[in-house]
Order: sequence, then C-alpha cells, then structure tokens
Amino acid sequence: ENIPIHEYLDRSAKKFPKRKAIVFNNWSITYAGLRKASEQIAANLREHGVRAGDRVAIMLPNTPQAIMSFYGVLKAGCIAVMTNPLYMEKELVHHFSDSGAKVLITLDLSWPKLQSLEKKLNLSKIFVTRISDCLRFPLNLLYNFKAKKDNAPTIPYDMQTIFPWKRLLKKGATFSPRSFRPEKDLALLQYTGGTTGVSKGVMITHQNLAANVQQYLAILHKLGKDHEVLLGILPYFHIFGLNVCVNFAVALGATMVPFPRFVPRDILKSIKKIHPTIFPCAPSVFMALLQQKDIDKFDLSSIRFCISGSAPIPAEIIKQFKKLAGAEIIEGYGLTEASPVTHLNPLNGTHKLGSIGLPISDTDACIVDMEVGSLTLQPGQIGELVIRGPQVMKGYWNRPDETASTLRNNWLYTGDIAYMDEDGYFFIVDRKKDLIISGGYNIYPREIDEVLHEHPKIREAVAVGIPHHTRGEIIKAYVVVQPGETLTRAEVISFCRQKLANYKIPKKIEFRKELPKTLVGKVLRRALRDEEIARLE
Ligand code: ATP
Repeated sequence: ENIPIHEYLDRSAKKFPKRKAIVFNNWSITYAGLRKASEQIAANLREHGVRAGDRVAIMLPNTPQAIMSFYGVLKAGCIAVMTNPLYMEKELVHHFSDSGAKVLITLDLSWPKLQSLEKKLNLSKIFVTRISDCLRFPLNLLYNFKAKKDNAPTIPYDMQTIFPWKRLLKKGATFSPRSFRPEKDLALLQYTGGTTGVSKGVMITHQNLAANVQQYLAILHKLGKDHEVLLGILPYFHIFGLNVCVNFAVALGATMVPFPRFVPRDILKSIKKIHPTIFPCAPSVFMALLQQKDIDKFDLSSIRFCISGSAPIPAEIIKQFKKLAGAEIIEGYGLTEASPVTHLNPLNGTHKLGSIGLPISDTDACIVDMEVGSLTLQPGQIGELVIRGPQVMKGYWNRPDETASTLRNNWLYTGDIAYMDEDGYFFIVDRKKDLIISGGYNIYPREIDEVLHEHPKIREAVAVGIPHHTRGEIIKAYVVVQPGETLTRAEVISFCRQKLANYKIPKKIEFRKELPKTLVGKVLRRALRDEEIARLE
C-alpha cells in the first residue's frame, strides 16, 4: 500500500479515538488528541513560514513532544531530520550544515550547547520545549507547564527566531492536508550511527517507512492482541526506535510509553505499572536489565515478546531473559539504509540462535563475493550481504559517489559479511570495515569477541586491528573485567589459546573500566583504533 507514513496515525485516530496513544509519567494523550496536535503543529509551522520540502531538525529525547513534532513536521510536507540531543559541537555542525536544516525543535536542556553555536548553525526558527522537569516529576507538561526554576536554563525567547514549543500547538492556524507522492517524497533524512565512519544522511521516503511497517505487520499481527503497549526505550532519533517504537506502534493502535533516559531500575519499576506487551530493544539494554541483581523480583509477565536488533545478541542473553520473563527475544537485523528491518527470526517457526533469521516479506537477500561484488555465493559461503526491497533508501543526501557504490542495480550493499545456511537463515559474521588483515590472514574480530565473552571473569571485550609495520595489522583486545574480579594478560592469552587458532590470538591486551559506545550501545571499534593510531604516531 502506497501511503504517507502519517496516514497510520489518521487511521488509528479514526479506529481508536479514545485509546491512549502516549503515556508519559502521569500524562497521556489519546489517538484523536495526537492527530489533532500533529495537525496544529503542521499548521503552525506553515504560519511560521516553513514550507514543504524544508528540513526540520527534531532534537529531543524520547518524549511525547518528539512524537507529536515528528508527525506535525510530516503533515506539513517537511522532511524530519531526527537529531541526537547528546551530539556535541562537531557533530551538530556537521548535521545541520549537511542536511541544510533551518528549523529546529529542541529542549531547554540543550540550549547552553546550542547558544554558543547559534551563528554556525544558521537556523532561522528554533522552538524550545521544556522537558528537564518532567524527567523527575510528573506534570501536565504541555499546557500547564510550571517551570521548576532552579536548573532549567533561561531561554531568550525573542519571538523572531526563538519561540516556546507551545506556540506550535496554538489554536487558530488552519490545517490544510497536503497531497503526497509517497514513493518520491522524503519523510526523513536519517543520519547513520557513525559506528564505522562519518555519519551520512540517508534519504528515506514515506513509502520506505510505510513498506517496512507493513512488513512487520505481516509477521507480527498474527499475534493478534487488540491493544498492545510498546516500550519506547530505543531512541526515536534512530531509525530502529522511530519506525518500530513509533510508526509501527501507531499502525497497531498501540499505547506508546517513551523513556527519555535509560535507567534500568526505572524501566523495571514501570514494567510493573504499565504492563508492556512488546519490548523492542538493543542487546545492551537486555544485558543491562539482566545485570540488575534483583531482576527476578520484578513481574515481567506482561511482555509477550521482545525484538532485538542493531547489534548481535549473545545466545546466553536470550536464554536468561526467557527464563526470567518467560518472553522470547526475537533477533532481527537491519540498517538505516533499509528503514531499517530486512531480517527477522520467525515468531512461530524455528528461531535459530545466532542467526538474524529470514528475509522479511518482499525482501530479497543474497550473499555476493566480496571482491567481485556480483557473484552470488552458495549456502555456507561467506561474502557480503546485499538486499533488495521496498524499504531500501533512495540514496545518501548530497553524496552521489557513496550512493553509487552502496546502491548498485537496486541492490543495497550492506557492508556486512554474512552467510546463508541450507534452510535460508542468514548469519552475520562481521562488518566489512572491521575485518582485520594480519600477516595475510582475514580475521573476523567478532569471533575473538565471542571467545573473550565466554571467560567468566570478563564482562565485556572487543578485538580491534591496529596497524603494524610488518604484519599489516595486529590484534589488540580491550577487556572490561567483572566487578570485584582480577585478571592478567597471561590468563587472557592462555584462554584464547585453548579456543582460537594461533593467528587469531590477540597480541596486545588492554584492561579498561568501560568501552566507548554509540548511543544505541554499539562498541566503537573505530574510536579504539583511532586512539591507538594516535598513540603510535
Ligand atoms: P555507520 O553505518 O555510520 O557506521 P551504524 O552501524 O551505527 O553506523 P546503523 O544503520 O545504525 O549504522 O546500523 C546498521 C548495522 O548494525 C548493520 O550494518 C550491522 O552491522 C549491525 N547490525 C544490526 N543488527 C544486527 C544483528 N542482529 N547482528 C549483527 N549486527 C547487526
């Protein structure tokens, strides 16, 4: 079905007008209310001179305002640029100059950071909402905001450039629905996580998002519960959070529960109160929850299933979570360039541990030779995973060369090394960019990570290739030891000796308190490698 993505909001508002669309602390809004709010925002954006095709940056943590603003921006015909509120100066300047966004919707807590950059960012309209206080106590944050004076930054509203966000909800402006060409009109400029390089703007149309929502619906509707409650922990400024925890939730007519911060205890406590049924998250979240000592005291029985993606999830975590919560974690796979989901383990069929599952409906996937790029490989052979389907992006914003190398004959080259088994299940081996080439051998660092994870005293570990004058690269492992334990380099090496071929054994070991991660919890191998290179120079 070729529809603009916000059409799902209109449909759910018609079908379930009184159902709670968002619950946030003690505040909630119905589907009819959410639709109305989005139309007011669209109308007010137009009154402020914002036009179809303009890029509007939304830089908010997971909150009702983020959801309302997103649909308002789309209904105005604009392109949403979902922006991480934790970005620092360099990232912000890149994001705004690259996307050309002139309008920003943000929160008061980000103001001090933005103020010093105001000239560089070249924004013509900034709408600021106050969120800081609702993180700590419930309040009717939209209409009767009572600012807590002590720590909220003072915003210099001038009503020319800087406005209170509430202005976007002002009554009076008339909303006139626009017509859309869903296969052409961009809904999103979604910047990639930047795990392996500079963050690129991925052009995602309304149809891309709607297609991916329809693909999950085709699989997940079979569960057939009328009223789902979806935990919104994954950041909405990331495509996984946005299209699964928001658009898919809205298409289901589910109640969304946004969490602006990830505090494991808060999440466990609220599960008891809000009875979520679907829990989409990244592996790091499941791991952090399982590390809570008294997790078995919390009632998690409302959760019917969890979806895990964005990074590999250890089989052990799936088993432990099932034992505790009784719920299955279904592993899937996706990437920003595919809006994002392309693979999922079947809900009712065989769930192969360690596999990303089968391609979802209307999605073709195959493994091609990494050098030649076009030779299709047989089951069991390792190569690059390529994807074709209606969820695949239009290209990278203003980067024709990178678009041409990533999209070839309608196939998306994912940059992930994978293989398919005889049953058609796919397994990710590693990322092409993380591959270590040492003394002529190709080494997949994930294999080493997994061995290190098996050591009972190791909490987390990651292997990285660092430049070496004769071998090209050598392997260095960064290890985080379990609290209260001690471990030596020799112990780590001898453990690896039992499980890995000689050329895969790390030559260097560094113990760390923690590993650098992206905001969705992926270890930043690149940052570790860059640090090491800087040290060598
Ligand atoms: P960048 O592409 O800029 O380096 P990023 O990796 O954070 O950043 P995303 O689009 O957020 O970009 O992530 C997609 C990548 O995440 C995939 O290409 C793949 O490497 C990894 N990934 C996603 N799901 C899984 C999974 N289930 N198992 C292993 N890897 C996964």
